[in-house]
Amino acid sequence: MKSTIGVSHGSAVELGLTRGTFAEKPTTAYLFLKDRKCSGSCAFCPQSTEAGQRISRVDWPEFFMDDLLKALSSNKALKRVCVQCSNEESVRNSLPHVIRAIRESTEVPISISSSPMTQGLMHEVKGAGADCLTIPLDCASEGLFRAVKGSEWGDCWKALELALPVFGVGNVGSHLIVGLGEEEKEVVVLMQRLWGMGIVPYLFAFTPVKGTPMEKREAPPLVAYRRLQLARHIIIERGGRLDAFEFDGMGRIKRFLIAKIEFESMISDAGVFMTSGCPGCNRPYFNERVSGPIFNFPRKPKAEEISRIRGEMLGAVEGY
Ligand code: SF4
Repeated sequence: MKSTIGVSHGSAVELGLTRGTFAEKPTTAYLFLKDRKCSGSCAFCPQSTEAGQRISRVDWPEFFMDDLLKALSSNKALKRVCVQCSNEESVRNSLPHVIRAIRESTEVPISISSSPMTQGLMHEVKGAGADCLTIPLDCASEGLFRAVKGSEWGDCWKALELALPVFGVGNVGSHLIVGLGEEEKEVVVLMQRLWGMGIVPYLFAFTPVKGTPMEKREAPPLVAYRRLQLARHIIIERGGRLDAFEFDGMGRIKRFLIAKIEFESMISDAGVFMTSGCPGCNRPYFNERVSGPIFNFPRKPKAEEISRIRGEMLGAVEGY
């Protein structure tokens, strides 16, 4: 097992591994397991560049594994540990040891976010103590997946299918990044497909990071992201299907085909706009500056923030 591991800045502060401040307390310890260099070529990710030390907006300083394990064993506030993995064979193979070591130091549930792995390794990872596995599709369509990630869409789906009998329905997830060049309709179709299979979609907003091939691309419009947060809520919490949405010629959600009163109650539902993730995951400011605009709220939005969202939605869909 490698003697060091990346820990997100906020997690490191929460664990007392470093001094610093955070705008919002992380409820999960976010770790990043890397050996030499990620072999992936995701155009949005700093790890695919020579100098990459970040994932999205977040810095991941390295700490000794022993220090991390000690800090985890004395922390009483964190609700989960998330091990994100660089796309390297050596990293995947070390996962069972890493998870076992974490399991021995804390009782909180452990998530893994990794590129596809064999079902045999999934069993080992589960046996070592992980309860959730996330295999990120990131992109909403096969064409975009190939263009942005340079790898095989089919491999990712196969791994998601293999993960289901190992981890169980609701414990397998996939990260989707909004703003890579997809249509909203593609995201809605994908969320419905995943959810129909028992896989939970988690939404991220694209964040341009300097030095990556996509550094010049802009973050998605906030209203488009809000429409997709609402669509996710309709699919997951209200059993909605594709016929709950009307799309315009550009594939944007034009109208939610639900009663106005229901739509009103969704906007007031603080949970709709909070970070979607494994239970206990709040990913503070992974996608946004603290100064905003805030795509994923790491806590319940305050009353004034809900009023702002209400204002953002005016004219964002027909009939509201
Ligand atoms: S949803 Fe959160 S806890 Fe789960 S794998 Fe993703 S970042 Fe980790």
